[in-house]
Amino acid sequence: MDDVDVLVVGGGPAGSTAAFRLAERGHRVVQIEEHPTVGRPVQCAGLVSRRVLDLAGSETMVRAPVRGAAVFGPSLGEVSFRAEAPRAYAIDRAGLDLYLAERAARAGAVLETAVRFDGLAAPVNGHAEARLTRLDGSTERVRARLIVGADGVASAVARAFRLRRPVEVLPAFEAEYASSPGDPDLVEVYLGRSFAPGLFGWWIPDGQGGARIGIAADADGTSARAYFERLERHVERRFGRPLPRPVSYLASGIPIGAVPRTSGGRVLLVGDAAAQVKPLSGGGIFTGMRCAEIAAEVADAALRADDLSARGLAPYEAAWRAEFGEEFRKALALRRVFTRLSDRDLDALIAALQGSRLAGTIVAFGDIDFPTHVARELLRESPSLVRLLPKALGAWMGGDAYRAPELEPPRRK
Ligand SMILES: Cc1cc2nc3c(=O)[nH]c(=O)nc-3n(C[C@H](O)[C@H](O)[C@H](O)COP(=O)(O)OP(=O)(O)OC[C@H]3O[C@@H](n4cnc5c(N)ncnc54)[C@H](O)[C@@H]3O)c2cc1C
Repeated sequence: MDDVDVLVVGGGPAGSTAAFRLAERGHRVVQIEEHPTVGRPVQCAGLVSRRVLDLAGSETMVRAPVRGAAVFGPSLGEVSFRAEAPRAYAIDRAGLDLYLAERAARAGAVLETAVRFDGLAAPVNGHAEARLTRLDGSTERVRARLIVGADGVASAVARAFRLRRPVEVLPAFEAEYASSPGDPDLVEVYLGRSFAPGLFGWWIPDGQGGARIGIAADADGTSARAYFERLERHVERRFGRPLPRPVSYLASGIPIGAVPRTSGGRVLLVGDAAAQVKPLSGGGIFTGMRCAEIAAEVADAALRADDLSARGLAPYEAAWRAEFGEEFRKALALRRVFTRLSDRDLDALIAALQGSRLAGTIVAFGDIDFPTHVARELLRESPSLVRLLPKALGAWMGGDAYRAPELEPPRRK
């Protein structure tokens, strides 16, 4: 492979967004993807906000709008809300990835599939030299002025550049059903320690009469699949009938928590590789794509100034944290509280949320990309919610009194 300005590792939404933005600014970009086909295997429930469609500049991947949600407690008590206008979209996730990769290629990025980034050779003439392996086993090297690590939760780029990984990776397991009962206008969220300690289970319509059911849960020694199977039975109880055999399964991980550094000399991390994932939902398509746009802006300036040093690329860190840092910090703090709730607490939480006034608040303030806004409004309006939660939450609500968890762990002396 010829020398390039930028090697983008990963063919997901974050990688293709970065590749597109850099190629359209005239840089020589090669994007590699270890799988033979971009977008496959699918590792996602495919629920996104309008912002993702805006960032993609297309709606071709939309399967159906979603207008609201039903949230179930462990005893299947329910609170639901429905808005007039679409609140989210069920998409063809493989279609999104493919569309974004093609957009990058149209802008001039060269996409190479079935090529894996394996690590770094010693730096040569100030370039980063990447070791690559093709699916047929052949190896080669490519020299790049900058490497963008968009290679997901297990990022080999982050490891190669010795950038620390997120503290927590939630195992996730999901199955796709060709047909399913359920309201195609709503997503369903299932709370319960027995099947989703640490996050939740979901039922998401696929816009074609089927659905995706999945869980993400704490890595506590029980397999994600075992948790999933419990959820599947729980959902069947709710529907009052068995689900058909799934047509496919997926197992993956969701990075939760802050990565202390997402840039360094000749490297930027974007998307799941940088744990740019919403801590309360595990969703990362919008945040990863948006941060990839920020990365491309900073990289463009650094490439033009020929300063790919850690200092030259540091503005990326500041810029993406300015946009998402506060939301992520609050969401992490809220998540810490949420994960301490027992099943009884969760049932009580659902009971406290039942009532048209609070449902109205959810409709008015609900935003899947910035969920702490609605959480804050709900806590303001309902003292019974606050009573359920530890004192820490009082501080969280108090605005000024809110103390964000440290993004960077304290340095050892
Ligand atoms: C079960 C589940 C459900 C989810 N549902 C949603 C949802 O509904 N909505 C939402 O917003 N988010 C969801 N997410 C999160 C979302 O899928 C990720 O945040 C998003 O895919 C991150 O995009 P990315 O481009 O950073 O990484 P990825 O999409 O993971 O892409 C990384 C790419 O890099 C490739 N790669 C990895 N290593 C290498 C290497 N060494 N060399 C070359 N290529 C490599 C991979 O094959 C992959 O294609 C879900 C996640 C899971 C696990």
